[in-house]
Amino acid sequence: MTTTIRRYIETDTGHRVPNHKSKCKHMHGHRYRFEAEIEGDVVTQRGVSDEGMLMDFSDISHLLTVHIHDVIDHAFVVYEGDEAAKAACKLMGDDHRTVVVSFIPTAENLARWAFETLEPHIKTTYGNQLRLVAMHCRETPKSVASWRI
Ligand SMILES: [Zn+2]
Repeated sequence: MTTTIRRYIETDTGHRVPNHKSKCKHMHGHRYRFEAEIEGDVVTQRGVSDEGMLMDFSDISHLLTVHIHDVIDHAFVVYEGDEAAKAACKLMGDDHRTVVVSFIPTAENLARWAFETLEPHIKTTYGNQLRLVAMHCRETPKSVASWRI
């Protein structure tokens, strides 16, 4: 038996899928939801702040905010091989928030990126074997991709 918890943050982020056969090739944005799923044992140590929890939800929220939200919120995420979109972002000036990534920014690839970004920061404090087991990236209300170990 295991316990899992989930916490999400949302970002407003632009992207495009350059090779897409249809409308996703256009520059546009989404209200993304990045939801971390953490597994572990409930803390049984008496009197500590996290007693009865896996990890404080506010601590997860803080990590998601610093490492995901603050990096890509109100930014345009662009594939390093997408020369046209990179040129368009460059025209916007030096203060435009452009995040160049090594992958085509689909929900699937963003889920993996967010997982790999957050995973090193999920640390077991009370010997309760915390581990990030999945990251879910909701691109639209009907579309979610997950990267799972
Ligand atoms: Zn899109």
